[in-house]
Amino acid sequence: MFNIVIFGKPGSGKGTQAVFLKNKYELYHISTGDLFRKNITNETKLGLEAKSYLDKGDLVPDIVTIKMLENEVLSNKDAKGYIFDGFPRTLHQAESLDLFLDTIDLKINATIALEVNEDELISRLLERGKVTNRSDDQDIDKIKNRFNEYNNKTSILINYYKNQSKFFSVDGKGSVDDITSRLFDLVDSLK
Ligand code: ADP
Repeated sequence: MFNIVIFGKPGSGKGTQAVFLKNKYELYHISTGDLFRKNITNETKLGLEAKSYLDKGDLVPDIVTIKMLENEVLSNKDAKGYIFDGFPRTLHQAESLDLFLDTIDLKINATIALEVNEDELISRLLERGKVTNRSDDQDIDKIKNRFNEYNNKTSILINYYKNQSKFFSVDGKGSVDDITSRLFDLVDSLK
């Protein structure tokens, strides 16, 4: 089992690269953002709870997010490994993930950050907003709020995973293919 957290600011390419990693290493891909958006589209109870947070670019409360994540792992226990995309995003989420994985005899093997500067991210997100209709990608204040959420609540996880010797980072600038090769080289060196 090889379990990866793909980590980075909004727009850093986590979702795009997670799909390549998932295919190459036969991992089950869990994107908390995609799960929330699916629930919002389907108007489930969870979707209704999460909608106002996503609309503003705020993090959804941990209690909701952690439960959703655990259910998704437990519903896909045949996986050869997982790639967590957009989770954890708070210290409490990271600690809960470790405790939860321990109960099913799993652990995180590596956390891989995609490093991209904020100016580049803003232009990527505004471009994505034009093609996907994601409201949180169409408004500069919402984008900045997501960076604030990252800086205030998520960036602390870099040290959390460094303390466990599980933190790696990759240059997230350049062509999609180049970044994928960097990630494959890194994962191959870790496996
Ligand atoms: P991005 O990384 O570009 O912000 P995501 O699809 O990963 O896109 O996340 C979109 C939104 O979903 C976040 O702004 C937040 O509202 C919510 N969300 C996703 N993952 C989490 C999480 N782990 N904890 C809390 N909220 C989350």
